[in-house]
Amino acid sequence: MTITVVGSIAFDGLETPHGVRERIPGGAAFHFAQAASFFTDVRVVGPVGDDYTDEHMALLATRGTNTDDVERVAGGKTFFWKGKYHDDLNTRDTITTELNVFETFDPKLSQESRDADVLFLANIVPGVQRAVRAQSSPKWAALDSMNLWIDIARDDLVAAIGEVDCLILNDEELQQLTEAPTTYAAAQAVFGWDASPSAIVCKQGSYGAQLFTKDGGGFTVPVFPLDRVVDPTGAGDTFAGGLVGYVAARLAADPSLTVDRDVLASALIHGTATASHNVEDFGSEKLYGLPGSAVQERIERLHELVRLTPAPVDLRA
Ligand code: AMP
Repeated sequence: MTITVVGSIAFDGLETPHGVRERIPGGAAFHFAQAASFFTDVRVVGPVGDDYTDEHMALLATRGTNTDDVERVAGGKTFFWKGKYHDDLNTRDTITTELNVFETFDPKLSQESRDADVLFLANIVPGVQRAVRAQSSPKWAALDSMNLWIDIARDDLVAAIGEVDCLILNDEELQQLTEAPTTYAAAQAVFGWDASPSAIVCKQGSYGAQLFTKDGGGFTVPVFPLDRVVDPTGAGDTFAGGLVGYVAARLAADPSLTVDRDVLASALIHGTATASHNVEDFGSEKLYGLPGSAVQERIERLHELVRLTPAPVDLRA
């Protein structure tokens, strides 16, 4: 089973209470691939400039990720993003977003990328997400986005969301998108659109993540308990990578599987375990050489944490 992902491939400037990195490989598609590649084959679609060296490309290709559809634009500059985290590490300010080669990017997918059974539209201009979606016919597709695109390209984003099975968004962004007063109300508002996904995953930073399905199902996962978070950059993308990677692996084992509440609940656990490693170092630095067994240990620990055996008591009338 192969996942095709489109999204930013970037250089990031990062400032957290634990230190500063001027310019390290990042981007939503980059972080996603680092995580999803633990589970299955990944193909990345997107442009980079000629400042993106062979060493950067080799990092993108970690665990066999295919980079044939990464276009190196001669004379172009790679997407650049700079963010500064507040002391709580849950909130951050974007200092710079330079789209560079993404400004004029017109994706043309190879047949192999079109044929992938799973598609992930990672965070980037919604118009680019839609252009990639239009060229593919996956069994299952998911999408992530962010406040910038809600601010400047809302109509395109709403259309893109209507073209996938699963929307993955931060809590504040989901509420900003719908202007609904609670997370639940925001999810219901999206389900009420003319075209809407059948599942919504709401990321809640250090509080975990919540799943809502259109048929009324749901699930909540806590974050993995950690002593120290060094840099949350890419947490959302590696969460999505583990989540979508798990769905792809399940579909590989059973092509007729319905991706329902139970599959997605487990997917949330796999995403959370994968992301927990990412936040322990800058960028994706911890994930490059990490063995799959380290992710597996945290998947098992999280399953233990959410396991409950009902023991009801009688309530007073
Ligand atoms: P996350 O921490 O999961 O929200 O993702 C952080 C990554 O998103 C960084 O590596 C950035 O390069 C990338 N990023 C930041 N802003 C944007 C944007 N407007 N569009 C696409 N990617 C972005």
